[in-house]
Amino acid sequence: MHKPNLITLIDALLPQTQCTKCTYQGCKPYAKAIAEGEAINKCPPGGEETIKALATLLDRPVIPLEAVKPIPAQVAYIKEGQCIGCTKCIQACPVDAIVGAAKLMHTVIATECTGCELCVIPCPVDCIEMLPLPIDITPLTGDSAHTKPQRIARQLKRDHARNRFEFRHKRLARLEKQKQLEHQARLQRLAEDGIVKPLANKQTISDKVKIKQITSTLTIEQKRLKIDAAMAQVALKKAEKQLQQYNTPELQQQVELLKVKVAETERALINNQ
Ligand code: SF4
Ligand code: SF4
Ligand code: SF4
Repeated sequence: MHKPNLITLIDALLPQTQCTKCTYQGCKPYAKAIAEGEAINKCPPGGEETIKALATLLDRPVIPLEAVKPIPAQVAYIKEGQCIGCTKCIQACPVDAIVGAAKLMHTVIATECTGCELCVIPCPVDCIEMLPLPIDITPLTGDSAHTKPQRIARQLKRDHARNRFEFRHKRLARLEKQKQLEHQARLQRLAEDGIVKPLANKQTISDKVKIKQITSTLTIEQKRLKIDAAMAQVALKKAEKQLQQYNTPELQQQVELLKVKVAETERALINNQ
């Protein structure tokens, strides 16, 4: 079978929550890895049904799910009274299912939420909880469609979630490019004003210090570092809690990364006192 078609066929069997619990950055990257020989049992939201479907497609044996248990159909809920409007959850959501503006309360669009849990750890005030998906909303997870109409509805919703995920990626790539161009233009202006060396030359440490002095003050920097350190601590606690619950390799990796982040933020704080 031609490889891109095989990847598409595998991806069509995956839940499209884009939760990264398979240790890949979404369902399509995991589909690509499976096509290249990766194990078919790494998707907790897919559960047994997905393993069986992949085994049939690829003519491989059915094996048990790697995670301790499958992830059920669920939806994120923001306790709005506690939300401080920091937008961290919006940045984490892979399918743009959260609405809200900076410093204003945020809300989850339940019908768009894939239940991926990616917004839970970044929330600095721990005001997002995962609830069972209401029965009137079509689930994405495996073992959740038992009749033909249910299977069709689920496939349509998976296609919709995939489209939203891909659309978001394209939008973020466009914004990143724009940001880089604006940064270059800002440096160019500073170079023209003689504040830093021209762009053609490599920036020295003193150039970077000058730019920092122009764009921020020490007090603001210290505040930011304090917030970063506190948020890293909260994120680590939540990741450790999720690790206890699901024990996936991806969560283990996340906990290790967050431990490093906590150490880094604390070091940065001490260095800036
Ligand atoms: S649903 Fe999550 S674990 Fe399953 S393939 Fe997609 S990203 Fe990976
Ligand atoms: S709202 Fe949270 S759980 Fe729902 S899709 Fe977005 S990040 Fe995932
Ligand atoms: S991360 Fe938490 S506090 Fe921040 S906007 Fe989202 S729900 Fe509100």
